[in-house]
Amino acid sequence: MRCNLTEHYTRSIIFFIFNFMTFNDLRLNPSLLKALSEEGYTTPTPIQQKAIPLVLERKDVLGCAQTGTGKTAAFALPIIQILDETRDQAKSKKSIRTLILTPTRELAIQIDDNFKAYGRHTDINHTVIFGGVKQQKQTNKLGRGTDVLIATPGRLLDLINQGFINLNEIEIFVLDEADRMLDMGFINDVRKIVRMLPKQRQTLFFSATMPEEIMSLANSILNNAVRVNVSRPSSSAPMISQSVCYVEKQDKNSFLITMLKTQDTKSTLIFTRTKHGADKLVKMLVRNGVFAEAIHGNKSQNARQQVLANFKSGKSAVLVATDIAARGIDVDGLSQVINLDIPNISETYIHRIGRTGRAGAVGKALSLCSSDEYKDWVNIEKLVGTPITVETVNTQEFVPMVKEVFSDRRPAHFSKGRSNTGRRTFGSRNKNTSNII
Ligand code: AMP
Repeated sequence: MRCNLTEHYTRSIIFFIFNFMTFNDLRLNPSLLKALSEEGYTTPTPIQQKAIPLVLERKDVLGCAQTGTGKTAAFALPIIQILDETRDQAKSKKSIRTLILTPTRELAIQIDDNFKAYGRHTDINHTVIFGGVKQQKQTNKLGRGTDVLIATPGRLLDLINQGFINLNEIEIFVLDEADRMLDMGFINDVRKIVRMLPKQRQTLFFSATMPEEIMSLANSILNNAVRVNVSRPSSSAPMISQSVCYVEKQDKNSFLITMLKTQDTKSTLIFTRTKHGADKLVKMLVRNGVFAEAIHGNKSQNARQQVLANFKSGKSAVLVATDIAARGIDVDGLSQVINLDIPNISETYIHRIGRTGRAGAVGKALSLCSSDEYKDWVNIEKLVGTPITVETVNTQEFVPMVKEVFSDRRPAHFSKGRSNTGRRTFGSRNKNTSNII
């Protein structure tokens, strides 16, 4: 979570340009302010500015927040403060007072890390539970009592059924990344868990996008909520420069190798649709001299953590991920995201590219679109709502293994069903100019 000084400096300048509020203006107590200053945070992000005062006033909040906007601190900071200040009101020393439900293990661990960092000068206890690992360590920790429980739905229900967890004393419930819960098929588990919570509670509901089903879930669990939008729903972070390159399927690997070998990029996250595809791509990259590792659901939790640690420390510059595994990936200063394939659910695109350009940092997102993916790409462009730059490539500069890459703006068979033609901007109109390598 700590980022290097240059990144902090860049973020601070960006935040400073857009607003002059400081964390002191948000009525946060000295122990939190001290932790924030140690983290190098100087200016609250827009979601933090809006949500922190509301949570401290004990309001329900419906947060429509872009990925990477600082949303975790927006709920974690006021929760720590509330729990700290009302410790003597807790029914028992062992009762769980806050539940944070989140779709993936990585995200759960990330949130737990945030609680550790922000609450380091308080006595707030936090525990994280998720599936895919033995439960004993988690149940031992739960046995000692925890103020905050961060959980994925499956393991939470499992441990509730075994009698290790009781949700009767929950005062604050946070549902994080609600739209992803829906995508991952967890929505019924979420409803089941909500039914076990006390009616009298504060609820904070966060989602990057607000499809109808998510709005109806929100309406059913929130009470007089204040809606907080840090941007219009379904838009992606403003600091991400997005582009698309039209490359046919059989050419994508060659294209990728050429690009990774010729550009000087610190960290690249590549998305593939399947776990098998991720493994295959890693093998291909390694064979061609690009060190890469994969993260996906078939890997053990320890292996996933190790791969992520290698990527975060810069040991590996390329990480290949599936959508589900990438959900919780939070790498400060991630340089670029590449979509090796175009997701068929448009919202997934927003989640993918949101891994870069986090909290005001500048990021790049490049999508490789083949002709059979073009329909999905049109839908993505509609959702994003702004023109996405079409990059052209100089095929002559490609390494010999590259067979054929579309070097022109759009191959003939793309012209059918073309969307917002008038609004499209081109990275370069020169056939022989490369903007991406
Ligand atoms: P999140 O959207 O919560 O995943 O946060 C994205 C990244 O921004 C994380 O690496 C946070 O540590 C970082 N971050 C959150 N709030 C701030 C802030 N006010 N100033 C600088 N970095 C922040």
